[in-house]
Amino acid sequence: SFFCFDRLSNLAYNPWFIVQMAQKNIVVVGAGVAGLTSAYLLSQTRQYNITVAAKHMPGDYDIEYASPWAGANYMPVSIRDTKAADWDRDTWYALEDLARNHPESGVHFQGASVSNQMTCRLTIFRECEILSRDKDSQSATAEWFAELLSPSPWFKHVVPDFRILPTDKLGPGIQSGTIFTSVCINTAIYLPWLLSQCVKGGVTFKRASLEDLTDALAFGSQGKVELVVNCTGLGASKLGGVRDTAVVPARGQIVLVRNENGGKMVNLSGTDDGDQEACYVMTRAVAGGTVIGGSYQKGDWNPEVDHELAHRIMRRAVKACPDLTGGSGKVEDLDVIRHGVGLRPVRDGGARVERERISSGWVVHNYGHGGAGYQSSYGCAQEVVRLVKEVTSANVSKL
Ligand code: FAD
Repeated sequence: SFFCFDRLSNLAYNPWFIVQMAQKNIVVVGAGVAGLTSAYLLSQTRQYNITVAAKHMPGDYDIEYASPWAGANYMPVSIRDTKAADWDRDTWYALEDLARNHPESGVHFQGASVSNQMTCRLTIFRECEILSRDKDSQSATAEWFAELLSPSPWFKHVVPDFRILPTDKLGPGIQSGTIFTSVCINTAIYLPWLLSQCVKGGVTFKRASLEDLTDALAFGSQGKVELVVNCTGLGASKLGGVRDTAVVPARGQIVLVRNENGGKMVNLSGTDDGDQEACYVMTRAVAGGTVIGGSYQKGDWNPEVDHELAHRIMRRAVKACPDLTGGSGKVEDLDVIRHGVGLRPVRDGGARVERERISSGWVVHNYGHGGAGYQSSYGCAQEVVRLVKEVTSANVSKL
């Protein structure tokens, strides 16, 4: 009505203007899964005006950018009754919702569809198998995977269909196993999807290589920056104002192939090729290929593909998953799309999700997620939103 138009044209009465006036400027540093998920959840609150500033963005492939290299899947290794387990638990519900209701995000239940001609019903097998060999029980990998390999992990009541694999379903050399519904995230689709959700929510993106965390203060799009969210991953070990010496790389090498594994996601307790090597296979959504891995080489910064390691990765995968090569078991029958190397941002003592007062204001940190950046992403970003609300509330901002 004319009355409304008249009122809205008067800025003093314009509710949108009032919201904008009250908006707090936040700069999120980093556009990996941690930064994008934080910005996405923050953008759901109209109170914030958010800019993401980062050296690497979705679409880039770089050794300083871990997120594109991940498989990625949901296989929690966090220990029961820890914050990390809470973050992983909370993340499951968000990822399950994406797989069920938003397939355009590139998140899918790992599985094959089979229609039953008698009932005309479609059954979805969502299989994720965790297989254990007795000989790995004393290895460093088995220690790292302790919760994942347990017959009764904390997440057995979180993920659907958790059960123990019957002995007659175990392959040669495997002594025990579990099976449950899980998801695989096609990072090539999911990172741009997250970015587009942010853009839809009004987030601005800027390329920036920061020397010091306080450089982020220059990147607010409207006025004074109230708060910085630090999601710099491994970069937190070098960034001025942070330089966290507890953050180190755990090198992961993978091979992306065109072959498929009958919809099964598989993870083994260890390999015969040393503690720093792993064996896992997962098929990405929307014809994204199959990721086979891998390695966990702590302290190794080497960005180059190690071709001998790549051969061992492929040899182990065709042995563990004969379906990959139609039963031939030959590495030459793998059709390679690309080899990849990524550095997981491991932090001794666990990820840092907390607030810190620095001379120029408040920082909320969200980095150091090691090999769990996706499977903990929503839990951690929800914690970021809680901390940001705390810091921007009148009481705390005066501290
Ligand atoms: P990153 O993705 O590295 O992003 C860091 C961001 O900060 C980038 O945008 C970068 O440009 C920016 N930045 C850093 N320093 C600066 C600076 N000084 N100035 C400006 N910008 C800066 N996780 C799972 O949950 N499930 C899996 O199955 C899984 N599999 C993996 C397999 C491999 C081979 C690898 C390598 C990792 C895997 N991970 C997995 C781990 C996961 O990839 C990481 O935990 C996650 O990607 C970390 O995200 P991040 O946003 O913290 O860091």
